[in-house]
Amino acid sequence: MQTSFTLAQLADPGIAEADKILRACVHCGFCTATCPTYVLLGDELDSPRGRIYLIKEMLEHDRPATVEVVKHIDRCLSCLACMTTCPSGVHYMHLVDHARVHIEATYRRPLPDRLMRALLATVLPYPARFRAALRAGAIGRVFAPLFGAIGLKSLAAMLRLVPARLPPRGAQGPRVFSPQGVRKARVVLLQGCAQQVLRPSINDAAIRLLTRLGVEVVLAQDEGCCGSLVHHMGREEEALTQARANIAAWTREADGAGLDAIVITASGCGTTVKDYGFMLRGDPEFAEQAMRISRLATDIAEFLAGFDADFTAFRTRSDGLTVAYQSACSLQHGQKITRQPKDLLAKCGFAVRDVPEGHLCCGSAGTYNILQPEIAAKLRERKANNLERTGANVIATGNIGCLTRLQAATAIPIVHTIELLDWACGGPAPDALKSVQVGTDRARRTVGAT
Ligand code: SF4
Ligand code: SF4
Repeated sequence: MQTSFTLAQLADPGIAEADKILRACVHCGFCTATCPTYVLLGDELDSPRGRIYLIKEMLEHDRPATVEVVKHIDRCLSCLACMTTCPSGVHYMHLVDHARVHIEATYRRPLPDRLMRALLATVLPYPARFRAALRAGAIGRVFAPLFGAIGLKSLAAMLRLVPARLPPRGAQGPRVFSPQGVRKARVVLLQGCAQQVLRPSINDAAIRLLTRLGVEVVLAQDEGCCGSLVHHMGREEEALTQARANIAAWTREADGAGLDAIVITASGCGTTVKDYGFMLRGDPEFAEQAMRISRLATDIAEFLAGFDADFTAFRTRSDGLTVAYQSACSLQHGQKITRQPKDLLAKCGFAVRDVPEGHLCCGSAGTYNILQPEIAAKLRERKANNLERTGANVIATGNIGCLTRLQAATAIPIVHTIELLDWACGGPAPDALKSVQVGTDRARRTVGAT
């Protein structure tokens, strides 16, 4: 695609990067076929190609974002299915990230939208605040239909996500978990923000399995949210502040006792941490450290798949379960990790089933399900139907967003992949599995009862 930025515009590194990305697009439109919003809405402006065109016009003319541009960019899930499909290697993620920063800087949103975004940015990344908000939300849940009826759809969507009760707290940092036997590796495990409140059993399972395999696990001091929640809202400075804090915390560990990896169990966070090197490329103090941290970042499935571990030596049970593997967008499109989680599940004895339309997002997408509840609801329903078509006993996924979003949409229990792997290798049965019955009518038993 031809662009016409001036030399003065190209002196801005953000514009120079956008120019490079725009020039790579040949307008072939292959990406439209796998874009969830285009599939649902059928509007070219809700396709990757349409959005690329809107962003080009806005940036080339150095215009403030218009209502129309904001509408179509806001509808983008950042699922990155378009990047998987694109034959020209267009880096849509960096382009839309830049567009969101431009929108945030030049567009004044209506008051309810501003307030909702401020609330999400102030609460979600901080576990103590999020926990307190969920307790308050548990009381306010009953008002969700009322808020929906008076047009406060985002507030209603947010309240519907509030769980009836919170699980007990999991492992808290700073802390070091010693490996069983000879130490084979030393890793930091990202504690995360929302995940440690909503499903602490995920990281607890990761710690058990990693230490069982001979990995020393560190929950680092002064680490916080990875920054992706605010990053996807265009709040660049907040995202970079959160990224710098983590980089400083993990660099201390890497320079101290050494680190083989930064292991991440929420794939949405993993995609962002792997991008720290790019996000901070212009920061003279942090650029080099950010690149080093991005290179160390690894998804838990990616780490385990590359780790010299004989899972069969640990395998104690899989109870003949069939598992529908829900491939989170941030894992399959953002990090190109598709095979490893399924291979690991198969190695541990599970029968893995692929999900029809597995490339399409479930509608969770960070805060998208709150900010765009109608599109998100349609995508969730479609995903739940596809998951149920597999006839599996259980759904496994690698991202807390998919997990939280889908568990209310299907009767099939949903767990994190690592929870299943840990259980199969001798850990406790995940709570979600305790209602699952397997076997024939004559020999029916409850999973995890032993
Ligand atoms: S598939 Fe790639 S090159 Fe083709 S229109 Fe989409 S982004 Fe552009
Ligand atoms: S990131 Fe997802 S929703 Fe956004 S344009 Fe690409 S495919 Fe469509």
